[in-house]
Amino acid sequence: MITLQIENLSKTYDKNTVVTDFSLEVAKGEIVALIGESGSGKSTILKMISGFEKPSAGSIEINNETVCSKQVFVEPENRQVAMVFPDHSLFPHLSAEKNIAFALNKHSRSERKRIVNQMLQLIGLEELRKNKPHQMSSGQLQRIALARSLAFQPKLLLLDEPLSKLDVMLKKRMREEIKQIITQTETTTILVTHDKEDAFVIADRVVVLKDGVTQQMDTPEGIYFKPKNEYVAHFFGRVNTIHAERNGKGYNTPLGCIQAKENGECCRVLIRPENLNIGQQSDDAIPATITKITFYGQQKELQLQLCESQQLITVVIPNYEKVNVGQQLFCKLNTEELTSWAMV
Ligand code: ADP
Ligand code: MG
Repeated sequence: MITLQIENLSKTYDKNTVVTDFSLEVAKGEIVALIGESGSGKSTILKMISGFEKPSAGSIEINNETVCSKQVFVEPENRQVAMVFPDHSLFPHLSAEKNIAFALNKHSRSERKRIVNQMLQLIGLEELRKNKPHQMSSGQLQRIALARSLAFQPKLLLLDEPLSKLDVMLKKRMREEIKQIITQTETTTILVTHDKEDAFVIADRVVVLKDGVTQQMDTPEGIYFKPKNEYVAHFFGRVNTIHAERNGKGYNTPLGCIQAKENGECCRVLIRPENLNIGQQSDDAIPATITKITFYGQQKELQLQLCESQQLITVVIPNYEKVNVGQQLFCKLNTEELTSWAMV
């Protein structure tokens, strides 16, 4: 079942087009992340879905009902869409339970009580029900804001950078909690973020935006391993860009010959550092010199200069390997496992 169907949505402020031809289909219960740099149009898309902004063109359907098109415009309060912001926007004078109950004014007293209890249990904050916002931590406030949004069982939950104000440790924990809470309640969700880990950990599917234009829409694995262009490849991690020239059925590169279905005479190959192995001398290993070592805790990143072509490339090795700048070693393209590459 499709919960959200967006077709060719565009938004222009004065003469400045900030979202172009944005289309997206979200299935019931699915979590989709919209990711892009600041100013790429993410919040504008959420505002159009919730009804706080009118699109310049395009249409939006929620549960097969058109909420926005050339002829139709359903007001935000009638869309049953919930939105959560990074500053949680809870009422400072109301307790946790009253904040959660706020949107339940159409429910009976006992029904309201039941839902609030259920929500407090869901977010694991039953003992803080009487606390006011100033008596809670930022992680707890974010959970209350989420519970308040879920309490009225929205058709769609929109999260606009919900984790951007949390410190690193808390952010990591909250990511998993948010995912668990929205999965448990089977809430169809769109998460806006500029952090690739938020997108990868929380979302089933990721949409990459650049200047209001969709670059790629895929699962986290698809985005990482099969980036459609250089922008997407660089956005989601380290990547080596290598020149390739056709040679019969394959392509010659400074790292050896690779097979490809491409047609062009030459192209650029994008290879993730994980797809390069360091090892012993062999027929197909390329000699290289270490020019820089960077320690990242979990691993070390080496910058290598290939002896023959002088090309600089990046590889990663386990953190316990002992290496020195100036050391010579051999580098090999892991072609059997070469999942993380793209040709452009
Ligand atoms: P993001 O959430 O990805 O950071 P936004 O959707 O907030 O990006 O903004 C996209 C672009 O639209 C930005 O260049 C921003 O300056 C512009 N913009 C957003 N809201 C307005 C507005 N009300 N009037 C004019 N320009 C706007
Ligand atoms: Mg924004």
